[in-house]
Amino acid sequence: MTNKEEGIAHLKEVDGDQTAISLTKEEFVNLMKEGVKIPSHVQIIFSDVEGSVTLETVRDMVIPVMEDMEELSDLPVSDLYDVPLGLLRRDNLRCLGKCRFHRESFRERKYWPEEPRIEPKDVRRIDLCRTMLTPEWIRVAISTLFHEYLHALGFGGHTPMFRSLEALWPDEDANGGYPRKIRSHEHRMAFSEARRETLRWLWDSQGIPFSVWKKT
Ligand SMILES: [Zn+2]
Repeated sequence: MTNKEEGIAHLKEVDGDQTAISLTKEEFVNLMKEGVKIPSHVQIIFSDVEGSVTLETVRDMVIPVMEDMEELSDLPVSDLYDVPLGLLRRDNLRCLGKCRFHRESFRERKYWPEEPRIEPKDVRRIDLCRTMLTPEWIRVAISTLFHEYLHALGFGGHTPMFRSLEALWPDEDANGGYPRKIRSHEHRMAFSEARRETLRWLWDSQGIPFSVWKKT
């Protein structure tokens, strides 16, 4: 039995027929480092995450896992700690995250496969959608930040190469990835549905018909 299979077996054992297990942040990070896939019927309750989740909490659950990824071992992953984090506007519609670069950086450096490559120090700020910063949706925030960090490491567009790097994040259920595979990301889909409801409420409260949302 490989490490990964043992990890899943361990989860199933803890889980039994139930759908929720309790983990600390550190336990979750260790499962991610081991590459354990979280079965889609398992809901994770973080025993040490309460109220609104800070951006630093999300960061500290992503970078240590990336530092352990062999595929990223030639890249300046630890420099990601220096990238400022912020929030997207409350009424943003489409984005879950956005990586903003210093414009002048592109004069000297470019996206992969060109060299020299854009690096974390070229990032002005990464902004995340605030709806994800709750104990319930932190797994979506984590996988979104992983996605934005790949941009910060110099991978520009959503190319097949980018998607294969994105798929390195073990929590597939919360991950993005190929739009045509969206149905394999159930937790992510549940978040999108919840977010739509939040936006509906926001728009209703401003007197804007929600049907307009679909047209934007
Ligand atoms: Zn992207």
